[in-house]
Amino acid sequence: MFPEPVLLRAKEEFLDWQGCGLSVLAMSHRGKEFISIAEKSEQDLRQLLAIPANYKVLFLQGGASSQFAMVPLNLLGQKSTANYVCTGAWSDKAIQEAQKFCRVHIAASSRDTGFKHIPNPHDWDICKDAAYLHYTSNETIGGVEFHYVPDVDGMPLISDMSSNILSEPIDINQFGLIYAGAQKNMGPAGIAVVIVREDLLGNTPSTIPTMYDLLAHAKSGSMLNTPATYNWYLMGLVFEWLIDRGGVEALEVSNKRKAEKLYRVIDDSGFYTNPVDPSGRSRMNIPFLLAETSLEKTFLSEATKENLVALEGHRSVGGMRASIYNAMPEEGVDALIGFMIEFERCYG
Ligand code: PMP
Repeated sequence: MFPEPVLLRAKEEFLDWQGCGLSVLAMSHRGKEFISIAEKSEQDLRQLLAIPANYKVLFLQGGASSQFAMVPLNLLGQKSTANYVCTGAWSDKAIQEAQKFCRVHIAASSRDTGFKHIPNPHDWDICKDAAYLHYTSNETIGGVEFHYVPDVDGMPLISDMSSNILSEPIDINQFGLIYAGAQKNMGPAGIAVVIVREDLLGNTPSTIPTMYDLLAHAKSGSMLNTPATYNWYLMGLVFEWLIDRGGVEALEVSNKRKAEKLYRVIDDSGFYTNPVDPSGRSRMNIPFLLAETSLEKTFLSEATKENLVALEGHRSVGGMRASIYNAMPEEGVDALIGFMIEFERCYG
């Protein structure tokens, strides 16, 4: 979902941004109006996540998927190995891309349970001579989330936070680099955020294509070429909305409450199941199965009649999935719960 107050504000400002006579769509990215939008959004993100001054914040195109390649290209330095933790479809994609540039050492994997848990940190086998360790903090498709930050003993820790960034406070100092596509918790598709400790940049000897060079992006203030200006602006509005709602501390409380009540309904029923180990359950994406697969179509069509949409599981896994990102109000979760209970009463 996109926060409604943000949509209304964007609508209000669409033709004329703050009385300057221009729509954001018509602004030059180098003009003072857009520069002020860009600076404010960075400042707000820094405030939301308490990002220290020695971290660069980049606003890039190419989605989170480009970072699958940009991370090894920029961070391998003199090393030829990188650690990856494999917890599902998205870490798998990051691994496949990294394999084009380095030797990937799988430090931990939950493939043996079909990605239904977070591997126990005591069992990780971290290659000490690797450039970094990469993990996916929330597996959007499988609904598996880390509820702690892995301890990597000083090695740069890289995290794909595409689907849970800004859902709770984090200590940025524990990370070397964080990246996230905007379209889950930050704004529209078409822009991604990279937060990177500045000493990690510029240490790679090989030539990196300019658009894949994080240092070049950092030096140009993410304006190496024309950035996705309107998406950047919308993302800035989302940051303002998040600050108004009390920031990530307040969001964490409401995200926990939303997820807990939905899991409770699933676990208390003999009709719905969530296959993920409770300690690794996602607060953002909650997949569930019905007791009878044949009822899935009916569930979805009945739900649509109640304005409960986008509940179909990812095409690769089937079943149902409730994505309850920051912008999903608690009433939305309550409506889904009410529907699920009623559906079970009728068909269970
Ligand atoms: N990582 C995760 C965890 C994701 O959920 C997604 C998108 N669903 C991606 C990466 C890829 O993001 P993008 O489409 O922005 O490239």
